[in-house]
Amino acid sequence: MFSAAHSIRTHGGVGRYLHGHDFRVRVCASRSELGAGNIAVDLKLLEEVLREVTGRLDHRYLNEVLGVEDLSTELLATYILRELSTRVPDVYLVEVCTTGGRYCVEVER
Ligand SMILES: [Zn+2]
Repeated sequence: MFSAAHSIRTHGGVGRYLHGHDFRVRVCASRSELGAGNIAVDLKLLEEVLREVTGRLDHRYLNEVLGVEDLSTELLATYILRELSTRVPDVYLVEVCTTGGRYCVEVER
């Protein structure tokens, strides 16, 4: 989980105003065969990389971090998936939910 602010400036609803959420991120990874130690996915590495990526977003204005005018949850999920999968190629899905699970998006490779 991390907390951050964002806005979707061209959106017609209240999302165009600066506001914040607690974002919950769920990550799925898979490999067709077991690797060393009969382990499919290195969870320690995945947790480290996820902590690093979400650490860059925590308590920040996400529009500035990603350099966009419209920061949607979909764009955020796509960004997190790209950042994770470059370091942990077995990651295939990222789900991002906003405060209280009111809104979730999933992005699959
Ligand atoms: Zn929002």
